[in-house]
Amino acid sequence: MPVALCHNGSVSGFDIRDDSLSSRLDQVRHRIAAACARSHRLAESVRLLAVTKLFGPEVIREAYALGLRDFGENYVQEMERKAPAVADLTEARFHLIGHLQSNKTKKAVQLFSSVDTIDSARLATRLNGEGKQLDVMIEVKLSEEEAKSGASAEDVPVLVDAIRACPRLHLTGLMTVPPWSVDSEDSRPYFARLRELAARFDIPELSMGMSNDLEVAIEEGATWIRVGTALFGRRRQA
Ligand SMILES: *Cc1c(COP(=O)(O)O)cnc(C)c1O
Repeated sequence: MPVALCHNGSVSGFDIRDDSLSSRLDQVRHRIAAACARSHRLAESVRLLAVTKLFGPEVIREAYALGLRDFGENYVQEMERKAPAVADLTEARFHLIGHLQSNKTKKAVQLFSSVDTIDSARLATRLNGEGKQLDVMIEVKLSEEEAKSGASAEDVPVLVDAIRACPRLHLTGLMTVPPWSVDSEDSRPYFARLRELAARFDIPELSMGMSNDLEVAIEEGATWIRVGTALFGRRRQA
């Protein structure tokens, strides 16, 4: 079937030659909308965390200019370097999505609106002690991978209690990173388990799904998807 090109070279509203951030953002939003339609969810019920780790502040600024407001960063020190160059983006909210060492909690509360990777009661207590109101999520490790951080599902009940006992911490959600796989369907059981765990403790947000498996995550109830590569392209190495 011949494909009709619009005057600007786009097919069905997407420009096939345009590799700009703006067109990649359109594509990601289209994927979100399609997954939401399939699972009878409102597109507004899924929020996009733009993962800018290993990209410079100019990439954050470009994304902000396109309307993105929530950014994911993995490293406290990297955020510290970028912060001065994005300080004027007053509506930007930065989430820490990488493991936080307990000796960096002071810097973390200065740089981030949300720490999405709480994995111990000790870390929660230290963050609470820094004296600032902070949104937090518990990172849950649902696989047996040695190298990965995150609390086990068995640890979640105690951790939920510990965080809810901290007056400055607001437990907003659970976050998980399933084992990497080319087949996004492999992520589905992990996402389903995270949803069940959150429901048991009345935790509203679910941060799950990345560039390759965001559709499956949305079908399983994700309220935040964390997208890097599909928006910004391949990352340089750390
Ligand atoms: C890097 C990273 C992402 C983004 O992954 P992409 O596959 O590039 O979309 C999401 N979540 C976490 C925790 C990450 O470290």
